[in-house]
Amino acid sequence: MKERGSQLAITFVYHGIASRELKAVRDIASEVGIEEHRFVRLPDLREASDTHSDNLAGMPPVYIPGRNGVFYSLAASCAEEVGADLIVGGHNRDDVRLFKDASPSFFQLLQRALWAGSPALRERKTKILLPLSKMTKAEVVKLASSLKVPLRLTWSCHANGSDHCWECEGCKARVAAFVKARVPDPLRATVDSEKIQ
Ligand SMILES: [Zn+2]
Repeated sequence: MKERGSQLAITFVYHGIASRELKAVRDIASEVGIEEHRFVRLPDLREASDTHSDNLAGMPPVYIPGRNGVFYSLAASCAEEVGADLIVGGHNRDDVRLFKDASPSFFQLLQRALWAGSPALRERKTKILLPLSKMTKAEVVKLASSLKVPLRLTWSCHANGSDHCWECEGCKARVAAFVKARVPDPLRATVDSEKIQ
């Protein structure tokens, strides 16, 4: 994002994020040749299940209050620093359905707020781009497969083991998406062949 064609990746290290997930994003960024990868530490930002707050009862366990307001404001700070034209997020349609702070109206208002607060972003017309926001998880898997994304390096498990547990919500959603997309999961292939042996 620094110059036309150059890219800066940002990973937000919130409370309790699985270290295995951090390894996955490092490996993917390295594999696809990201020039700069920043890790922004947010130890006080917790998922609803980690807060034990009565005020968040009924929210999905992985919900983080104010998550996208925080994440995209920090991304906009980086964008202003490096002179980026685009801030790109990977929300899919399921996120949009579940979380109001992943909705089109939220991002339209946030875009306006960021431009109101930063003449540099407004002059550059830096935009928030969400290319996957109308796609289901299965459609994202299909697209990733066609673009030869290194799916073997991706991580979906909420547990912090050395391999996927294949029992948590993240693993179940991954299996369902790959099955629906009719794309073989390079990680499941290992599991299935071990079961067969
Ligand atoms: Zn799992």
